[in-house]
Amino acid sequence: MTRTSFPLQDQLRGFSRALFSTWLYHRRFNLLFDAGEGISTSLLNRVFGIRKVFLSHGHADHIAGLINLVNIRNLGAGDQTTDLEIYYPQGNALVEVVKNYLAQTQSELSFSLIWRPLEAGQMVALDDRRGKTFLRTFRTQHSQKQLSLGFNILEARSRLRPEFATLSQAEINQAIWTHGKERVVEPFEQIIFTYGGDSRPLPVGAITESLFLCHECTYLKREDDERNFHQHSILEEVLEVAAAARVKTLLLFHLSLRYTQEEVRSLVGQALRRQGYPFQVVFLFGDRFHPLADPRGRPETDDASEGSASEEDDRRTPAGEEKP
Ligand SMILES: [Zn+2]
Repeated sequence: MTRTSFPLQDQLRGFSRALFSTWLYHRRFNLLFDAGEGISTSLLNRVFGIRKVFLSHGHADHIAGLINLVNIRNLGAGDQTTDLEIYYPQGNALVEVVKNYLAQTQSELSFSLIWRPLEAGQMVALDDRRGKTFLRTFRTQHSQKQLSLGFNILEARSRLRPEFATLSQAEINQAIWTHGKERVVEPFEQIIFTYGGDSRPLPVGAITESLFLCHECTYLKREDDERNFHQHSILEEVLEVAAAARVKTLLLFHLSLRYTQEEVRSLVGQALRRQGYPFQVVFLFGDRFHPLADPRGRPETDDASEGSASEEDDRRTPAGEEKP
């Protein structure tokens, strides 16, 4: 059996089905992106690992899991004292309703529940030991009535300026000695992870060279968008955006229920072979991540090898402490 993995395979848990529920948990940073129904029943005591929640918008399939998440964090068998921050698009009336509901029904929580409204272009520091990782929001295009946001995790990195890029290490050292480090090395921000929420195709400028782009893909074929809501994305648009942005890996989520897993694999595979896109594609079908054939020619994997092994490992060592 061929085992194909993708970057972040062990770092991501999630569920996504258009209209029903969407959430994605990034374990390395303890971040939850969106909070659709079923988070807690799926993650069980791993919900205690969540430190920050980022809501892309206020539709029910992206926020319905919040109430139970807060309840389990309060009463479940884990560290009940760790603060939970919920970031949401500023002025979102639907999120405010959930916030008020929780304020009325959960007045004595064992941890601090902190609500933080966000605008587009805002930065949030993330917990990492080196202090070089942060998140920045960008505006997406989804509902006419409410602000929707996408999220980039960025890392502050440095690289050689182009004029020094071809030099040997000895020559670089000499150049630093002669000109000073700032003339030789430049700082830049690398997008290491992008979560776009529900949206029309994301703005290329906001996601350029993302190492891992999570882009919704509600429709595989243009004619399937029969209601013409212009709120969601179609496969060919998503692939074009990912190519224009020069992303490394593309995760498709928020697939419409009308497609079977085999249809998704087949239609995405066909599109990839037609165009020869230079990035890897993974799709989230229900709670399973399915990598497609590597564009460099590695074979496709069968279902048994997809994500299940690491999930088993994870069950043995939950993030929260489990009572016997
Ligand atoms: Zn939505």
